[in-house]
Order: sequence, then structure tokens, then C-alpha cells
Amino acid sequence: MARARDPIADLRRIAFLLERANEATYRVRAFRSAAKALAALPATEVATRAANGTLTELTGVGDVTARCVAESLAGEEPVYLRRLVATEGSDLDAEATALRAALKGDCHTHSDWSDGGSPIEEMALAAVELGHEYLVLTDHSPRLTVARGLTADRLRQQLDHVAQVNAALPEGFRILTGIEVDILADGSLDQDDELLARLDVVVGSVHSGLKDERSKMTRRMLAAVANPHLDILGHVTGRMVSSRPAGVTGPGDRGHRARTRAESDFDADAVFAACAEHDTAVEINSRPERQDPPKRLIRRALEAGCRFAINTDAHAPGQLDWQRFGCERAALCGVPADSVVNTWPAEQLLAWTSERS
Ligand SMILES: [Zn+2]
Ligand SMILES: [Zn+2]
Repeated sequence: MARARDPIADLRRIAFLLERANEATYRVRAFRSAAKALAALPATEVATRAANGTLTELTGVGDVTARCVAESLAGEEPVYLRRLVATEGSDLDAEATALRAALKGDCHTHSDWSDGGSPIEEMALAAVELGHEYLVLTDHSPRLTVARGLTADRLRQQLDHVAQVNAALPEGFRILTGIEVDILADGSLDQDDELLARLDVVVGSVHSGLKDERSKMTRRMLAAVANPHLDILGHVTGRMVSSRPAGVTGPGDRGHRARTRAESDFDADAVFAACAEHDTAVEINSRPERQDPPKRLIRRALEAGCRFAINTDAHAPGQLDWQRFGCERAALCGVPADSVVNTWPAEQLLAWTSERS
């Protein structure tokens, strides 16, 4: 008989791949809850239950996940997993691959402390598996109540929690503290200065009034970019595109709602010139529905002499692998690796952000 595989690892891998393929959340959750339910039991009980068909009596384990577990324990790669691996696939060209390989971390990610779907620990473990050296945790700020933005008090609690989680993570990897702070209507940032100064990395984004007229939006962005606490300007245009990039294929392709939003109107050359002047990095947001900024603006930011950060804006562990989409666009525009702040080791990144504020 073949040697048993680790059924929990297989379930987590399936969840990861589903997420990466932008599958519906409930489907991802089914595999992750099953993995959690099994992790709470002794391995012998899992094997006994698989053998006598009583795995589905456990909360969180259904027919599909139970079948995967039985296959894993029999030493076979679960059919579900095999099919997922066979139908994914995104071949990056050489430049995009090199850029992706140069990335040492991700500067824009969310946890279930705001509107993400997973605990900080899960996000960190997925980042470790991807080979990252660091993950910047950037949950939302107070005014973004729809995304459960963190008040100053909750952010302080999160900082304590991150310190504890870091102590338990493998050597050579750490979570850096951060925030995705709202850029308010007057261009000020939606968190206490004292806290912004304490955080390792500050990403600032516009989430409201996206249809404001050009001069107003330009003033707002210029004020934010000039703020010494702001390190990275997040999803610059706020656009939502409905199409998905090549390579995001999988069983979840059907049934996705198209949710589009036009780019905000602002003087991009003025904003990018200010980013270059204040050494604020321009984010290349990798989310398939954002693809922000569009390539023509990446080229203009490059001409202006800006630095970049290629981020996932991940709200779940599998989305941490979306950096390849950002790399693809960056490579097409000729963005050099050394102008991307997250190709730097953590120490260099931290030196840059502290020097700026
Ligand atoms: Zn955002
Ligand atoms: Zn975000």
C-alpha cells in the first residue's frame, strides 16, 4: 500500500489553489474548515474515521473534503487537487518571472482584523510558503467602517498581537506592521500621527469620493503624497475592471459578477512628479479586478522617476500569490527590479520608510 500523504496539508493546498484561482469564498472555506477540524484531532482518530466513513460526522467536514482525506490517507494525490493543478497555469515570460523571483515580500495585505478572511497567522504561514521574507500587514483605517477599519485602540492591540505572532514564526521571516490608511477628502490620513510614525510601512489609498472632479482629486492626492508618513500610494486610480488577466482560469471562472468602475480623474503627471519628489512609492496593485494603475500610467510613473511596490492587496492566503499578475504588467512596462521597494530585504525597506518619516 502507498504511503499516506498528509491530508491536512492537501486540504490547505486545495484551499490555496482555489483562492489563487479567484474561486468563490464558500468553496475555499469548505476546505479550510475541514483542515481546521482535522487538525484538532489526533491523527489516529482521523485515520479511523476515514476507514469507517464517519469523517462527515465532524463539523466542517463534508462529502467532498472527506473523499479528499480518504485519498490522501491511501497515499494518492486527491483527485480534486490533481484536477486543480492540471487546470491552473499561467506562464510568465522571462522578465516577469525574474521580477517575481526578486520580490522578497508583500507590502499590502489584510487579515480578519478588518475585511480579510483569515487570521494573521494564516496569512503569515502562506507568505512563508511562498518564500517571502516579510509580509506587511495593512488592515484598514477607522473611517472605512464597511471594511471594519481599525480604531487607534484596535490597531495598538494588533501591534501587540503581531509581536506575539512574530515570536512564534520561523526564523528569517517576519510580519512588518502597517496600515492601509484612508486618504480623506482633504488629503489628510485617517489615523493618529503617533501611530503612523510607529508603523513600519504606511500604504495610503483613496476609497471614497472616487468620482470627485479632477482638481479636487489632484489636490487630495498631492497632499497625501507630501505627508511624510505615507510610504506607498495604493491602487492609484481606484478603477475596477471586469475582465480577468490571462492565466486566471479554473472552475470558478463562471458566475463572477462584473463590477467595473472607471479610473478617478486626476493630474497623473503632477501626482507622479510629487511621488518622485517625496520618494513615495507608487503601488502596482496585482488584484485581477483592479490591475491598477493601468499600464499607460505605470509608464508615466516610470518616466517621472518613481519607485514602485508590487503588492497583492490580498484578503486571503491564496491571493498572496497574485503578485505574478503585477509582475507581468510591471515587466511589460519595463519597471526595473531595483526600483521596486519590495525587492529589498526587510532592513533596507525599514531604513527607507523610517528615513522618510
Ligand atoms: Zn484599498
Ligand atoms: Zn487593501
